[in-house]
Amino acid sequence: MIKDIRVRFAPSPTGPLHIGGVRTALFNYLFAKKNNGTFVLRIEDTDQNRYVPGAEEYIKNALNWCGIPFDEGIEKEGKFGPYRQSERKHLYKQYADQLIKDGFAYYAFDTSEALNNHRKDHEAKGKTFIYNWHNREKLTNSLSLSKDEVTHKINSGIPYVIRFKSPQDEILHLTDEIRGDMKIDTNILDDKILFKSDGMPTYHLANIVDDHLMKITHVIRGEEWLPSLALHVLLYRSLGWDSPIFAHLPLILKPVGKGKLSKRDGDKMGFPVFPLAWTDPKTQEISSGYKEDGYLPEAVVNMLAFLGWNPGTEQELFSLEELIQEFDLKRVHKAGAKFDPEKTKWFQQQQLQKMDSDILVDQFKNILSEKNISTSLDLTTIVNTVKERAVFTMDLWELSNFYFISPTKYDEKAVKKAWKEDTSSLMHELTRILNDITDFSENNVSTTIKGWITGKEISFGRIMMPLRIALVGSLQGPDLFQIASLIGKEETIKRIENAIENN
Ligand code: GLU
Repeated sequence: MIKDIRVRFAPSPTGPLHIGGVRTALFNYLFAKKNNGTFVLRIEDTDQNRYVPGAEEYIKNALNWCGIPFDEGIEKEGKFGPYRQSERKHLYKQYADQLIKDGFAYYAFDTSEALNNHRKDHEAKGKTFIYNWHNREKLTNSLSLSKDEVTHKINSGIPYVIRFKSPQDEILHLTDEIRGDMKIDTNILDDKILFKSDGMPTYHLANIVDDHLMKITHVIRGEEWLPSLALHVLLYRSLGWDSPIFAHLPLILKPVGKGKLSKRDGDKMGFPVFPLAWTDPKTQEISSGYKEDGYLPEAVVNMLAFLGWNPGTEQELFSLEELIQEFDLKRVHKAGAKFDPEKTKWFQQQQLQKMDSDILVDQFKNILSEKNISTSLDLTTIVNTVKERAVFTMDLWELSNFYFISPTKYDEKAVKKAWKEDTSSLMHELTRILNDITDFSENNVSTTIKGWITGKEISFGRIMMPLRIALVGSLQGPDLFQIASLIGKEETIKRIENAIENN
């Protein structure tokens, strides 16, 4: 049993975090919380060329909006900081040196021109050039050159990189919590660069060193990193460190089920692939976000949790707390998870129904004030009446505006269907009946109107349909007696009179 569980989310700030990244963060968060562990955010910014301003801020905001904040990381310094790799630069070289000293890595002086030529030569022969055990001794590095030559080159400032010397003829056994055991023939591995000529470590070295120094116990990350697993395990071994436990999450696939969901897919297919909207600092191109499109973080989190995981029961609706309780890496599957925008809407609709009524009413009040509506109507009842059909908070307005604004137009088809020759006179009579009611409660209005209709021996539809047109403007909407009671006697009568005048 591992005592202090520590996981990390380690994005590179190369742009906005795509929902695949948020899913990785979420699974790390759930795993940490389930096990009373620590969730670390580390910014992997060793590749300065790919740095995008604003991306780091975006990552933090996205995690906070989803309600899955990190415990330790940038601006929340713990014992293992700094948490930005660019601020840890000084830490990495010693480990590359140690690997060289122990014979697990070597200096390589090949210029990019020379490497390009090798690539071209190979291509011409229908082969692929790989820097590995097969040809490393024929290239310009500290394995092929004499000690003196190497010292001379380094001392005269000739640029070099440090490459990992992948072991030859070994079958490496790898274990992954999700994928189980795997075997890799080390002869297929290339000698990856660990340290670049600009004095910066590559992702591989920095990632391993930091996971070790930050005492990370479980590495939970996307499947795209699975091909790096062998190298990472070899690096741990070569540095004399224990590997963390690995879990590679399945890919998120396009809605059609084939191909990885890409950052470009969303706006092309009409749904966001980012948690928050993002404006590209270079092109000013705007990508839509779930937040701005009206989604609740609870819905996005619920949807993401089901991309590659399920609880093993029929239950689909989960709060974050419930997800923490239920989450288990053992229930994450290997197969790619198809992204389904319609299902996301379903989660949204369901989570909206579960939302605390007071919060929803508050949000509705904001919508009303944006529309310049001041009202004394009972908003809690109105929201509770219409929310069932709402997917987004903003739908509440569409579904309930007739409570606040009396109809100015009447649905033509409905009028044709329901407004007969004698309707106006029946409606006149109805206004007199309503005027006599002192207790305008839903119940009382209902009993009085129904009693009157029954007494007249006419069908309900002859009254109810035109009354609905008068109050709502169409044949839609919730219970009529409730509407009448809520908007009150005066307004009800006024609306009926208006309808008589206009139809
Ligand atoms: N910096 C890598 C990324 O951008 C981290 C991969 C890992 O978690 O090891 O996804």
